[in-house]
Amino acid sequence: MTTIIDGKQVAASVIDAVKYATASLQADAGVKPGLAVVIVGDDPASHAYVSSKSRMAKECGFNSIQHTLPEETTQEELARLVETLNADESIHGILVQLPLPKHLNSDPIIQSIRPEKDVDGLHVVNAGKVATGDLDGGLVSCTPAGAMVFVRRVHGDDLSGLNAVVIGRSNLFGKPMSALLLAANATVTTAHSRTRDLAAVCRNADILVAAVGRPEMVKADWVKPGATVIDVGINRVAAPEKGGGKSRLVGDVAFEECAKVAGVITPVPGGVGPMTIAMLMANTVIAAHRKAGRTPPKF
Ligand code: NAP
Repeated sequence: MTTIIDGKQVAASVIDAVKYATASLQADAGVKPGLAVVIVGDDPASHAYVSSKSRMAKECGFNSIQHTLPEETTQEELARLVETLNADESIHGILVQLPLPKHLNSDPIIQSIRPEKDVDGLHVVNAGKVATGDLDGGLVSCTPAGAMVFVRRVHGDDLSGLNAVVIGRSNLFGKPMSALLLAANATVTTAHSRTRDLAAVCRNADILVAAVGRPEMVKADWVKPGATVIDVGINRVAAPEKGGGKSRLVGDVAFEECAKVAGVITPVPGGVGPMTIAMLMANTVIAAHRKAGRTPPKF
């Protein structure tokens, strides 16, 4: 029997733990975690993401602040806002929603966030800590952190003897995911567009993680029988069966056929997706604990 991971349920359990940690931090230290989310411009998808992040922050009991800036905001204005938030003692986490409008350069903005407030885990200091195996000192990028929650729930903390393959080498996901699996003692292969015979590489994986952005690329004969398959991809494809030019979301894994071979698999939607927001909340409560000189919870 294949286990299909219910990402919404796992994310809800993370959110419960965040709420508990928030309440105890407030009761013991009088500190309320503060999360500032910054959005520039009118991109509807980004606005939808930001609304759900702000809503979830309120639900967790945080001081949730949203800065909505107009499309014509300059690099200097955005940089000044980040500086203000860096200096604000009541703000423990800063998230600048990406992508920014084309005239703005996101990298200097992200790198100007104080690493201890970089709850997206994108600052080079945090990326460097993950790369060097210092998982308790920094903040881990939310989507790989969420995927690792799944891996730990299936395989435990120690992945000794297991082969893991991550398809994708982005700074946002593939590289930190590979580093996290390595830190948990898996034997890790990071595959990408130049990998030769990707199917054969994947068939060696006890844990197969796909983060490519190509709809249903991973087929059943790429999957080792009984493997754990984690699908990070989010792809919108045409759904003529729904009629009227409608579309649907699919992952990078051909779910129906791979579910027949895998031991554990995540669906799209409802798998890794809900974990990203949950881990953003987890990072914020971790940052607030550290600022208050308290040991943060583990998720
Ligand atoms: P990205 O920066 O575009 O990276 C894609 C990676 O896939 C690259 O390393 C690329 O290789 C590799 N690749 C492309 N074509 C390939 C092929 N034919 N065979 C093997 N590898 C191939 O994307 P990303 O930001 O990591 O995101 C990947 C996917 O995850 C997207 O669908 C994105 O929407 C999704 N995502 C989901 C969440 C979530 O919350 N669930 C969060 C982040 C991302 P090269 O490096 O050689 O070009």
